[in-house]
Amino acid sequence: MSHDYPSTQLLIANEWVNAASGRTREVLNPATGEIIGEVAHADTADLDRALEAAWQGFTQWSRMSPHERCAIMRKAAGLLRADAERTARWLTLEQGKPLREAQGEVAAAAAIIEWFAEEGLRLYGRIVPSRNANVQQWVTKEPIGPVAAFTPWNFPINQIVRKLCAALATGCSFLVKAAEETPASAAALIDAFVRAGVPAGTVGLVFGDPQAISSYLIPHPVIRKVSFTGSTAVGKQLAALAGSHMKRVTMELGGHAPVIVMDDADVTHAASTIAAAKFRNAGQVCISPTRLLVHRRVKQDFVQALLAHVQGLNVGNGLDEKTTLGPLAHARRVAAMAQFVDDARAQGATILTGGDRLDGAGYFFAPTLVDDVPREAALFNQEPFGPIAGISTFDTLDEAVAEANRLPYGLAAYAFTSSFSHVHRLSREVRAGMLWINQGATPSAELPFGGIRDSGYGSEGGPEALEAYVDTKVVSVTAR
Ligand code: NAD
Repeated sequence: MSHDYPSTQLLIANEWVNAASGRTREVLNPATGEIIGEVAHADTADLDRALEAAWQGFTQWSRMSPHERCAIMRKAAGLLRADAERTARWLTLEQGKPLREAQGEVAAAAAIIEWFAEEGLRLYGRIVPSRNANVQQWVTKEPIGPVAAFTPWNFPINQIVRKLCAALATGCSFLVKAAEETPASAAALIDAFVRAGVPAGTVGLVFGDPQAISSYLIPHPVIRKVSFTGSTAVGKQLAALAGSHMKRVTMELGGHAPVIVMDDADVTHAASTIAAAKFRNAGQVCISPTRLLVHRRVKQDFVQALLAHVQGLNVGNGLDEKTTLGPLAHARRVAAMAQFVDDARAQGATILTGGDRLDGAGYFFAPTLVDDVPREAALFNQEPFGPIAGISTFDTLDEAVAEANRLPYGLAAYAFTSSFSHVHRLSREVRAGMLWINQGATPSAELPFGGIRDSGYGSEGGPEALEAYVDTKVVSVTAR
């Protein structure tokens, strides 16, 4: 076991506890394959206690004033920042991303907490002029109740923090099943709220069997809202279960982001921007650029510039300062990358660079560019979720937009052009929740974040994020 990586317990009613059964599961370092710690594995008995706590937490937290809640949330942001170096190190040890990216994730989380803390002060209702002079009527927003959240391992802190903060800012309590692969950084985030003074049960953290936990929590009468981030396949199952129990749902699911590079684009800028976006977190990002659609006239220049960036990446352990591309988070992703490459090759595509897993310990796969990817290849249909991007050529904007919209996903999309009329058309015609033009993604707390179609529904940023955690109530009073 690593001395500077902790084992993680469950958080129930503001206490860190082992599972009642004493069960645990191992946590691995994906850069070395070594066991670095363990995480408690909750069963029904633990979930029942966590649900009871979430109800108690809700009754107290929802009765506090928004200003009191804001103060506690802001304090949590400060505590998270104070421990940022340690938490980022744990994140890299359990997830693999370069330390600089882990530090960025912690800093971003603190900023998100502060934005939501303030936004909770602006959860206004309204007075509606009555048709009867003797009647006063108003509309209020009330917290929906205890929330059950399910979050993945790619951003162990940031996948939780947007859900957590939207829930807390509106007065809901929040019980999260975080990813078993990456428990310690998630626990550090939750612990900051405990130390900041949330009433017991306002926040809860469990780990265990994802399927068993979601199928127990979602139908449970205490839970009033479900929020999930993960694959489209699992999201559809959970949304169906929530629907059959009339629970409100936010779903942040997969994507397969197209990038349209027009012939009037600054190709050098497009290549460096896409290289940075593509290989961040080893491509395990739902908004990662994955289908590079390049105008025939600039194709060669773009590909050469992109290749130069890719070949300059330093693959290694995320704790090493020189590393710019870490391992994949677990062995399943390495196997998936190899399948994408084999399938693309079999279908006639060209591997420009990479294409292989790397020898030695850990879950490393070489950064990979695949050219002339046929429409039928798995790489252009299933979300790659790894350090691999496919390239295809087009001649007209119509063709590019048709390919961008061909898949059932609709999360992020990117385009590069210097023409205003192209911008205008792209902004109307590309079907996506987020379209970034001449830039990488900048998903700040104040911007809505979310997808459409098979990428899910609901938003995790901006005022829309809070709307998803409130019920609307009308009160009408006749003077007597
Ligand atoms: P997976 O589908 O097994 O799991 C994805 C996430 O969902 C994990 O965190 C897992 O714990 C959780 N999960 C799975 N079944 C669940 C259930 N029944 N109830 C509750 N939670 C459940 O896949 P994986 O191998 O871990 O990741 C691969 C795929 O997952 C990727 O290809 C990608 O599409 C998707 N994914 C998406 C995101 C995202 O940010 N949208 C993050 C991680 C993974």
